Amino acid sequence: MNYNSNFKNIAESYLFAEVADRTAKYSQAHPDKKILKLGIGDVTLPLAPAVIKALHEAVDEMAVKESFKGYGPYEGYGFLREGIKDYYKSFGVEVGADEIFVSDGAKSDLGNILDIFAKENTILVPDPVYPVYVDTNVMAGRKIVYANANEANGFLPMPDYNVDADVIYICSPNNPTGAAYTVEQLKQWVEYAHEKGAVILYDAAYESFITEAGLARSIYEVEGAKDCAIEFCSFSKIAGFTGTRCGYTVIPHALKKDGMSANKLWFRRQATKFNGVPYIIQKGAAAVFTTEGMAQIKANLAVYQRNAAVIASCMDELGIWYTGGKNSPYIWLKCPSGMGSWEFFDFLLNNAQVVGTPGAGFGKNGEGFFRLTAFGSEETTKEATERIKKVIK
Ligand code: PLP
Repeated sequence: MNYNSNFKNIAESYLFAEVADRTAKYSQAHPDKKILKLGIGDVTLPLAPAVIKALHEAVDEMAVKESFKGYGPYEGYGFLREGIKDYYKSFGVEVGADEIFVSDGAKSDLGNILDIFAKENTILVPDPVYPVYVDTNVMAGRKIVYANANEANGFLPMPDYNVDADVIYICSPNNPTGAAYTVEQLKQWVEYAHEKGAVILYDAAYESFITEAGLARSIYEVEGAKDCAIEFCSFSKIAGFTGTRCGYTVIPHALKKDGMSANKLWFRRQATKFNGVPYIIQKGAAAVFTTEGMAQIKANLAVYQRNAAVIASCMDELGIWYTGGKNSPYIWLKCPSGMGSWEFFDFLLNNAQVVGTPGAGFGKNGEGFFRLTAFGSEETTKEATERIKKVIK
């Protein structure tokens, strides 16, 4: 027996452990100081009342013989897939319910989708980015090339035709940079994918934070994207499902090569390795798309959006360069006075007792940058920005 030696090539995932360790050490040494955390990428507001009601009703259904449910469809119940289809329609995108696959979250699908692609594919990943894309491909032993995101391109890299790629990851609005592509910019990525015969894996986990016109909610807003893109999305950020777990992936029927359909391959993969999302959870997720549910989740999103605006205006006041904040819960800022990511982490912790996430943990281009998140409470966010202003001015 041999283990998968590719695991030796995965970078040690020390980012959040190191953040927690440094924070705990500071806290032990200064028990009187109140630490404010703007580092987490997790939501903090509870599920919407409409979702809770639907969950309770579904639990009661499971208690009665006539409405009890056993194994569900691998691809999700029709009621939820129809709800997702209508949600897409609400921002002008037509997808078929039979092109939508429900799952326990975008992270699982982003990792599992690699089962349908050949091992020899070259992977193009932006740097910095959500670490799951890199780690899942390293585990599988694939070749990875990087698209450099930096201050010059506003952390929105555009295609380089000198680079050959088969599978292209795009995350917009981006974690960690908060930067979001316009439909026009995505058009260039779709053209590049067509030229290279590549597929785009488009992570739209933060689409619900988009408020500005012209920015893409979905890659399918670009004409011609259906034959070259798979889209991943999640109930985690739109509706606070990080602990409840539900997401979905869209694979258009048009996505085909050599007589093989990506939609059919994914169905086959899921039917083999996945037994579906609990009925109860899918009922809760479907409630997000009711009029009542949508109004409630929008009120929650507005809290995070206001927090993001508070952090962004703090950066404006301090003259600090940043991306995100407007169409994203993340503010990605350039560390002041040329500080490195960890240097700035220690500076903020020691002087303002504010915790964020060092950009270096998201890729080499993240060095010198820092991520603050809007998922805290309004009080914490306001107090943290006041403290930041005092120590940086
Ligand atoms: N994609 C991105 C870019 C994320 O930041 C996250 C979570 O932080 C996910 C996907 C995972 O979403 P889920 O909770 O649906 O697994």
